[in-house]
Amino acid sequence: MSLDVAYSIEAQDYLDPDRAYDLYWSGTITDKKKFICPGSGCMAQVTCANLDEDLQDMKVVPHYRIYGTHSKDCEINNNIPLNLHYEDGTPVKEERLSVDQSIVDVFELDRPESYYDEPKKSDSPKALGDNKPKYVKKTKDTKLRENGSIGTVYSVRSVVSRYIRYRKDGSINFRRLNISGKDVYYSSIFKFIWEQDLDDLPDFPVIYYGWAFINRLPSDRGYQIKFKKTLKQGEDELKTTAMIADGTIERYKIKKLMATRLEKIYQKEKPTAFVFLYAQPEINTSKAGIKYANFNLKNLDMIDINYDCPLPTEYNK
Ligand SMILES: [Zn+2]
Repeated sequence: MSLDVAYSIEAQDYLDPDRAYDLYWSGTITDKKKFICPGSGCMAQVTCANLDEDLQDMKVVPHYRIYGTHSKDCEINNNIPLNLHYEDGTPVKEERLSVDQSIVDVFELDRPESYYDEPKKSDSPKALGDNKPKYVKKTKDTKLRENGSIGTVYSVRSVVSRYIRYRKDGSINFRRLNISGKDVYYSSIFKFIWEQDLDDLPDFPVIYYGWAFINRLPSDRGYQIKFKKTLKQGEDELKTTAMIADGTIERYKIKKLMATRLEKIYQKEKPTAFVFLYAQPEINTSKAGIKYANFNLKNLDMIDINYDCPLPTEYNK
């Protein structure tokens, strides 16, 4: 049975692998072996595989592996749902079932303030290991948690990572993602950038993807992402781009990951990357009269930059 959540000794909370990956790259977690089984009274050692990898591609996504022996009563061992609650007694929903019984993850476009909180000094030292707390920490931003679950998704990178995980475990056809109140199938989330007419594209943000050149801006204050293929409007081919300012990277909590990838790609002889972004293209015309389709990113959680195409070959065009 695969493990969707484990107790992190370092973060002193129950985490899904995507959040563990974020916390590793933002510096709260340092050791992939410091996890334990989330089951009641169970101390089985868990490792978060691929946590420390600046993954060459995300074909191998972060996931939990159990190494220790489960306790007799452990829910994982007995194949029954976990008995996890928030401190106020609300049960933790690991997944949310919609009316037609497909499983819906929620993609929140803003992380709660407390997402990256480090464990407080006042937390009981006993929480470290032999006496893990029974409660999942409730974030200060309870409103965001209400419709969510422990596995709420906060970044395009996590959406891509889950898409790959669900394809692997065969559940992809039952998986949906709720974005701003709207449910969409995981299998229909991604839109390839390939000569589509802007007038035929959705008038709301979706996840666009494709191969792109990564260049420094002429001002040397950030990167320009220029997709190899273009969007169109009527007969006009529009240069399709997004920009990432250095200051935006500097303020991003997972800047170690973002900066490492961008720098590595930029140093390559052919600085190209496979890019996903959640946005809606906007048409701009430059002073020289060149028409652009620009993606404005809300924040860096809305973009995922890969060295290679992490999706199956039919996506790698
Ligand atoms: Zn266990």
